[in-house]
Amino acid sequence: MNTFADLGLSDKILRAVTDKGYEIPSPIQAQAIPPVLEGRDVLAAAQTGTGKTAGFTLPILHKLSENPSRNNRRVVRSLVMTPTRELAAQIKANIDEYGSHLDFKSLVVFGGVGINPQINKLRAGVDMLVATPGRLLDLCQQRACDLSNVEILVLDEADRMLDMGFINDIKKVMNYIPKKRQTLLFSATFSKEIKTIAKQFLTNPVTVEVAAQNTTAERVE
Ligand code: AMP
Repeated sequence: MNTFADLGLSDKILRAVTDKGYEIPSPIQAQAIPPVLEGRDVLAAAQTGTGKTAGFTLPILHKLSENPSRNNRRVVRSLVMTPTRELAAQIKANIDEYGSHLDFKSLVVFGGVGINPQINKLRAGVDMLVATPGRLLDLCQQRACDLSNVEILVLDEADRMLDMGFINDIKKVMNYIPKKRQTLLFSATFSKEIKTIAKQFLTNPVTVEVAAQNTTAERVE
C-alpha cells in the first residue's frame, strides 16, 4: 500500500491527487481510506496536519461517484460537520480540488453570515455539504436543508465540537439523518465524552490511530 492507486481510488481521483502534488498517502490516509471504501464506520484519532481531510474526502468522492444517486436531482449524500467556519471553508476547498475531475457539487454553510444565500444554494442542489452544527440545525429546523438522503456522515474534530458546546445541536441534527448510514468520526483526543458519542453514533467501527506529524520534533525539543 505505497501509492494512492494501491488504495483502490478511481483514475479521476488519482488525477486530482497528482494535480495536488501528493506522491504517497500519509499514514492516516493509508489506514483510513481502505475501510471507508469498504463501507465500514471509522473512528480515527488524527489531528489537523496529518492529511485527515483527504483521508475522508477521497474515499467519499470515490464511493459517491461510483454509485450514482438514486434521485434524478442533486441531493445531499454526504455531510461533514466541523467546529469552525475556517475548518469548514478549508474542507470545502479540498473537496472541490479532489473532486475537480468529477461532476460534483459541494456547499459550505456556517453561522455569522446571512442564511438566505445558503438556503438558495441548497435549493439549487448539492451532493456534499460541509457545515458547522449550529447553522446546520437552524437550516434543518427551517426545512431548508434535506438530510434524509445522507449516506456518509463525517464528524470532524469531534473533540473540539464538544468543547465548543455543540453536542446538543449535533444530537438534534442526527434526527434528520438516516440511521442507516456510514459514519466517520475524527478526533485529536479520545475523552470519555468522545467514546460515548462514538458508541452512540457509530456501528462496529474500525479504529485508526496515527501520531501527529510534529510529535517527534516536539519530543526532540
Ligand atoms: P489536513 O490534516 O487534512 O489539514 O492536511 C494537512 C496538509 O497536508 C494539507 O495542506 C494537505 O494539502 C497536505 N496533504 C494531505 N495529504 C497529503 C499527502 N498525501 N502528501 C502531501 N501532502 C498532503
